[in-house]
Amino acid sequence: MMIPIIIEIIRVDRGTGLNGFTSGDSGVKVFANGSEVPQSHGGLAMNFDLSDKQRDWRDRAVQFARERLIDDIIARDERREFWREGWTRCAEFGIQGLPIPVEYGGRGEDLAVTIAAMEGLGYGCPDGGLVFSINASMWTNSIPILLHGSENQKRKYLPGLCDGSIIGANGASEPEAGSDIFSMKASAVRSGDHYILNGRKTWVTSGPVADLFVCYAVTDASKGVLGISAFIIPRDTPGFRVVREIPKLGVRTVPMGELAFEDCRVPAENLLGREGRGADVFNCSMEWERGSILASALGTMRRQLERCVEHARTREQFGGPIGKFQAVSHKIVDMKVRLEACRPLVYKIGALKAAGHDATIDSAIAKLFVSESFVANSLAAIQIFGAAGFVTETGIERDLRDSVASTIYSGTNEIQKNIIARSLRL
Ligand SMILES: Cc1cc2nc3c(=O)[nH]c(=O)nc-3n(C[C@H](O)[C@H](O)[C@H](O)COP(=O)(O)OP(=O)(O)OC[C@H]3O[C@@H](n4cnc5c(N)ncnc54)[C@H](O)[C@@H]3O)c2cc1C
Repeated sequence: MMIPIIIEIIRVDRGTGLNGFTSGDSGVKVFANGSEVPQSHGGLAMNFDLSDKQRDWRDRAVQFARERLIDDIIARDERREFWREGWTRCAEFGIQGLPIPVEYGGRGEDLAVTIAAMEGLGYGCPDGGLVFSINASMWTNSIPILLHGSENQKRKYLPGLCDGSIIGANGASEPEAGSDIFSMKASAVRSGDHYILNGRKTWVTSGPVADLFVCYAVTDASKGVLGISAFIIPRDTPGFRVVREIPKLGVRTVPMGELAFEDCRVPAENLLGREGRGADVFNCSMEWERGSILASALGTMRRQLERCVEHARTREQFGGPIGKFQAVSHKIVDMKVRLEACRPLVYKIGALKAAGHDATIDSAIAKLFVSESFVANSLAAIQIFGAAGFVTETGIERDLRDSVASTIYSGTNEIQKNIIARSLRL
């Protein structure tokens, strides 16, 4: 049956937000079937200066990563090996707890500061898999538990997620439910004070090494999206198992896994949010993740750019540095321009969330543009280094493999375009 979509557009007063942003920039709100359709905060006044706190966290993260996160990443990437010690060091430094209030074991910083620290981490730490695993845990476990969890759940899980003793992972995708995520089939049936879960989850970042899983399952198939619920599932829950590790092209230093629920008994107290409101938890998690996960890519792109500039100045062919050839220098200029265009998109998300605004559309824009820039810059870096860029031992090609993942995870870039198109009422 076709459901008619009723669009209403109403004019609203502009309000002034924090950090140089005004809310409701276009002055209109769009409603479809009674629900507000999020709009981009484009065209807002923007403060481009980092605060002292942002600069401090970013610079300290660079220094920390250079001193404490350097190991033989090329060999570990080849062995596809996760570095738990590196994970723990990041937690001790404070990364995992950055956006979590102090009372739950975090650092109590806002997203604007967290993004600055993640940019520093991405610059200083060459292990893209480790940084990706930290992102996955923060945005799909810590933030949803903070924003949707009960007081007990927050006190039980957040301190461990912050201090590094718990690695969080996210079980949403299924073999038959990827972009069409709410067509998932994993089921959760209430039985007394437990839910009994059955089904599979796949492509789960950190799955083989994680201690905690936020997973989604259908509690009432007759209600569609309103029949999906979110659950917090510790690894040792009876009936839960990691079935296999899935080898992949990039971000190899964090393993990906497939999960199985076989009459898995999850205590009802582990329901995250209300029964039937799992989509809210998921959408919230994706809004934060899409907007923030590529903050570290800004740092990685900056590192790439610096290596390319250095190489173009020192590598000589035909009697001079290759950077003097316009074909080379213009590639590097394109890298620089893309990076400069990416930074405000990501920092805007930090400012929006710090000011309490919705960032659904801006997160989709940032994720789309930064991931495609990351791939383009990684390809350019290989071309500028020639064979030295293509071989494993220089570490240049690893960034390309890592960057391709970013066009797929957190919703593919085609799905981001659909989200943005909807906001334009297309
Ligand atoms: C490195 C990595 C880490 C991941 N980590 C996790 C994780 O921790 N937890 C988790 O649950 N999932 C994870 N995923 C899965 C990820 O969320 C899915 O891969 C993604 O949502 C796409 O689903 P799919 O792979 O099934 O592709 P499909 O949905 O099958 O899509 C295939 C192609 O069709 C296109 N397509 C599909 N529908 C449309 C449409 N309506 N309009 C336009 N194009 C469309 C897609 O864009 C894509 O190009 C991860 C994926 C990767 C690559």
